[in-house]
Amino acid sequence: MEKCIFCEIAKHNLPANIVFEDNNVMAFADINPATKGHILVIPRKHCLNLFDIESDLFTRIFQLAKRIARIMPEVLGCSGVNLLHSAGESAWQEVMHFHLHIIPRYNRKELQRPFIPHSTDKDELKEIARRIKEKIK
Ligand code: AMP
Ligand code: ZN
Repeated sequence: MEKCIFCEIAKHNLPANIVFEDNNVMAFADINPATKGHILVIPRKHCLNLFDIESDLFTRIFQLAKRIARIMPEVLGCSGVNLLHSAGESAWQEVMHFHLHIIPRYNRKELQRPFIPHSTDKDELKEIARRIKEKIK
């Protein structure tokens, strides 16, 4: 089986510009930054994405993302950040080890907004909300 790149980074078998690590999570610079200072936060233990990460680990990822995002304006001079997580190939996930992107933002125009409204059908909105509400635990 092919080795997982992010597992290898987590085990220090591959180089990365690490900004933080503890026993559970790690943050390092994205090798192809979308903007200056783009950081990825990962669990050290392999899991695929949002669909299979343990809740506790998911919380730790977001806690670390918050700590990093909050110092970005001072360190980088950005004025905003986008958090992005892609779960599944259809959602653009390319590396199949959970990662949360922290993308510092300097102005509105440097990146394209990834979505435009899919539908303005009020009945569809109502029906989808009803179906999710019914299933949520
Ligand atoms: P995604 O499309 O959400 O799966 O994003 C994968 C991200 O991982 C991309 O932004 C890549 O630039 C980044 N990436 C891939 N390999 C490495 C690596 N060895 N070190 C740091 N970032 C990487
Ligand atoms: Zn992995």
